[in-house]
Amino acid sequence: MPQTPYYLIDKASLRQNLEKVAYVRERSGAKALLALKCFATWCVFDFMRDYLDGTTSSSLNEVRLGHERFGKETHAYSVAYADYEIDEVISHADKIIFNSINQLKRFADKADGIVRGLRLNPQVSSSSFDLADPARPFSRLGEWDVAEVEKVVDRISGFMIHNNCENADFDLFDRLLADIEQKFGSLLEQVEWVSLGGGIHFTGEGYPIDRFADRLKTFAGKYGVQVYLEPGEAAITNSTTLETTVLDTLFNGKNLAIVDASIEAHMLDLLIYRESARVAPDQGEHPYMICGKSCLAGDIFGEFRFSNELKPGDRVSIQDAAGYTMVKKNWFNGVKMPAIAMKELDGTIVPVREFNYQDYEQSLS
Ligand SMILES: *Cc1c(COP(=O)(O)O)cnc(C)c1O
Repeated sequence: MPQTPYYLIDKASLRQNLEKVAYVRERSGAKALLALKCFATWCVFDFMRDYLDGTTSSSLNEVRLGHERFGKETHAYSVAYADYEIDEVISHADKIIFNSINQLKRFADKADGIVRGLRLNPQVSSSSFDLADPARPFSRLGEWDVAEVEKVVDRISGFMIHNNCENADFDLFDRLLADIEQKFGSLLEQVEWVSLGGGIHFTGEGYPIDRFADRLKTFAGKYGVQVYLEPGEAAITNSTTLETTVLDTLFNGKNLAIVDASIEAHMLDLLIYRESARVAPDQGEHPYMICGKSCLAGDIFGEFRFSNELKPGDRVSIQDAAGYTMVKKNWFNGVKMPAIAMKELDGTIVPVREFNYQDYEQSLS
């Protein structure tokens, strides 16, 4: 066993998601690309590759990682490309999706050796959380004016539309897609491929996966397009834990337990969206507030129940630590960076990577 803290990627849990992704690809004819901004832990790419068609990206670093570590189809997207990076982006991608008509015009000639696309913004989304809502007022994410897009449609062969966010409701997905068809149908008819982005929780328990796949197939047939999905969270959900050890306990009107990790440094997304972490099984007579070891007052994973009183040395396993977690880890407070380990299909735990003082020191200068 590695020393805690460490992220533990469980291949058996990961495979459950991937098998659903593969099923949707099979049944719908859609292709599925892993969104690297959600999960870029490349030690499991060899394992994931067979279930997916490739990767999509949001920066030069990501498109390069996708090309070099994952292979297969590599889509490049960025909110804005810089002059100094565009050539390298193109060298790693087989499709490039521009966020705006201006960026398309600026770089279309450079990119004439690869497939080009444009991001559309239908101005409605499944998200009500402003920070993560691509359709928020004045959103910079994609073009919406059909007449303007019409003028450049001969320079592209496809569109990317990403307006779902953690959407676990098939009927809502269906309504949002119908809205896209109504707004952009005349454009969709003119291209060869449409990426519907990520944010669709189709690998979740009880999701009507057959209806979802059939809806994609109908959409593809209606416009004569190759559909792409860009699952991030859906591909890796519930596959990984953050394994920690209790360092101290206190009583301050509540029972507190401090663990050897930090929500600010190691699961930042939860803090940003003001969500509690999850601990399994979260049952028993003894409630504790599980706290991180950074000096941020609000470094708190959440309040959970345990079957025994906690004491130093006890293990606490924080659930669902793959998506938007490892990609956001940081060196706040210089807290020890969790190692990365994999649980193989036979149950063996294999340490993959440890981070040390040199990594901390080298992250700044
Ligand atoms: C964030 C993002 C994704 C992945 O979203 P998930 O919610 O993790 O599935 C896919 N495509 C684009 C364009 C994105 O911005």
